[in-house]
This record gives sequence, C-alpha cells and structure tokens, in this order.
Amino acid sequence: MARVFADSGHEVDVFEKRSHIAGNCYDEYDQHGVLIHKYGPHYFRTDSEILLEYLSRFARWRSASYHVQAMIDGELVPLPISLSTLTTLTGRVFNEQELALYLQNARVGIGTSVEGQFEPKNAEEQCLVRFGTEIYQKFFLHYTAKQWGILPKDLSPSVTARIPLRYNFDQRYPEEKYQVLPSDGLTAMFKRMLFHPKIQVKINTIVGSEEIAALKLKYSLIFYTGPIDQYFNCVYGQLSYRSLYFEWKNFSFPYLWPCVQINYPNEHPYTRCVEIKHATGQLISSTTVCYEHPVRYCQDSTTEPYYPMLTQDNLQLLERYNVMVDEESVGSTPVHFVGRLAEYRYYNMDQILLKAYNLANMLV
Ligand code: UDP
Repeated sequence: MARVFADSGHEVDVFEKRSHIAGNCYDEYDQHGVLIHKYGPHYFRTDSEILLEYLSRFARWRSASYHVQAMIDGELVPLPISLSTLTTLTGRVFNEQELALYLQNARVGIGTSVEGQFEPKNAEEQCLVRFGTEIYQKFFLHYTAKQWGILPKDLSPSVTARIPLRYNFDQRYPEEKYQVLPSDGLTAMFKRMLFHPKIQVKINTIVGSEEIAALKLKYSLIFYTGPIDQYFNCVYGQLSYRSLYFEWKNFSFPYLWPCVQINYPNEHPYTRCVEIKHATGQLISSTTVCYEHPVRYCQDSTTEPYYPMLTQDNLQLLERYNVMVDEESVGSTPVHFVGRLAEYRYYNMDQILLKAYNLANMLV
C-alpha cells in the first residue's frame, strides 16, 4: 500500500513495531548460512496475474516446491488427501472411481442439508462430511486440537476447509496456478518495494491506540495492521489468537526430509517440522529445520498473535468491533483496517497482498 501511494506522489510513513521490515514474511540467513522463514513458512502462491505482475517489479521468481507429508502410523503419507494419499495408506493403487467410492462409504451425513448438500457447522462436521471418520481421526482431529488448543467441533468449518481434496496424484499442497518464491528471498522483495524517496520506514516504533489520536492530526489517511481488539483497547473484551513457539535445529548434511513440511497429527507436542530449503532451493551443505509448537497468545507476554481463532464466540465479538471499524473508516482522517490481525481473518499471503493492492488503488 505504501508503494502504491508513494508511486502516485504521496508521502508515506510506515511504522513497524519490530526491528525489521516484511512482517511475518520476514526471511533471513541464520548463523549457519541457511535462509529461513523466521515466523513460519510463507508459501507464496497465487492465481492472480495482476498481483504477480505487480510484485514482479520487485522480485525475480523461482518455481517453489510445496510438498507436504503427514506422519501416519509411522509412515509418511502425502497431504492433501488425494489418490496418492489413499494409495500410500492402503498399499494399493487408487483410481478416481475408487476414491469416490471410498469417500461415498466413509462420509458421515451431518449438518444442515441445503438442496441435498450438507452444510457443516464446525470443523469436525466439515471433515466428517468430506472424508469420513477414519481420515478425520488420522489426519485432522489431533492436529487441530494441538494447533488450536480446542476441539474441531468448536472451530469454524472454514479452518479445515483450507485443505483441498484431489481426485488425482498431484502432491503439491496448495491449489493455486503459480507457486513461486522471490529468488533472493521475501525480505529482499519487500525491501525493494519500500525503497522509494517518498517512503520513510520507522522500525522499533509501536503505534497503539494512544498514538493513533496524535497521528490522526498529522496524516490524511491511516492503515492499521495490528490486532483489531487492541486498537479499541479491548473495550468489548479480548479476541483470542493462536501463537507459536519456533524450535530451530541445524544439521550438517544437505536435507533432513524429502519435502518442505512434515505434519505430525498424532504424536509430539509440535504440529509440524518445516525444512524451508526445499522451497527456497538454496544450495548449501547444511540444513535448518523448524518445529512448530502451538501456544496460547497472551497480550502481556512475549508471545505473538499469528492466527485468529475462528470460534463462534470470537466471531460474535468481532461483529461488535466491526461496527466501530466502520465508524473509523469515515471522518477527516479515515482509518482502514488491513490484514490478518486487523481484520481477524485467516488470510493467506497472496490474498492479503491482493486485497491491500486493490484497496490502495481504489483510495489513491
Ligand atoms: N489440519 C489438520 N491436519 C493437517 C493439516 C491441517 O488437521 O495435517 C487442519 C488444522 O486445523 C490446520 C488447518 O487444517 O490449522 C489449516 O491447515 P494449514 O496447513 O492451511 O495451516 P497453516 O499453514 O495456515 O498453519
């Protein structure tokens, strides 16, 4: 957004709480020289040629390999659920008809029926309706409980609906047409984007609700990207977020795993192990992997809010905050709320980049 406004002649100040740019997309070289995604893997993928074309001003791309496997009963099984998954699970080759038949027998009909289609009310129903009990229990139940600290029956169906179902052998995790990464990393792309005479970046600068009042006197437009409830001093109560603790390990050989991500639904306190080298394609003799331990987010601790927790209670609370968000978007200095935390939406990177790009172009 800063770049779109700067390119059309506006002066822009960017306030960044951390000591570096690029938000959670930030990548850096660790002490072993391995390029890591410090705040969890950011698998850039998009169907939008408009977004890709815009970002191409700041990046050269490399094709990225986003393959994920889940450790199920001591064996690595491809995810998302596809012909590859069923073939590996059962030891015999599945074709499309066999997968359709398997699912037809396994699926549990629950939820509200809309014109013959079951509308799941929560993530448990979403999995049972789509995959049946066996796949739900092996792949989703325990992973989801670990990741969110609550059971799938208490989460929005949209959370598990992120995982596709495929009637082919395609083992790429995302669905999108373009699956790429900037060849010199994500931070480098954002650095070039912010490198503009009309953009000032102020790092180590916290902008809380108190500072906003003063900023409104100085600026004609504000974009807020922090947690929505904290902007309003949590007047209606706190929304909950999920945080992560990242445990890093380096090994002095080229690769630990066959693919970028191994999920552990049923064992260990961590949910997954990410070996980002598979995606970055870096040629280096050692490898660094990251174990992700989900933890509760607490506003006054060192934990960081990474995910909105899409429960009914939070979504109801969000509606109340959104009334105030609408009020902020008008007036002499409109404030717009943009991003995962500010909108309390489980955006992927490309979705929020496109949203920000479109909003900036609309307002500029
Ligand atoms: N999920 C699961 N088992 C898996 C992978 C995902 O149960 O092996 C569920 C889980 O609830 C997770 C959600 O699907 O939070 C979305 O998964 P995704 O991989 O998109 O999570 P992210 O990369 O955003 O953490």
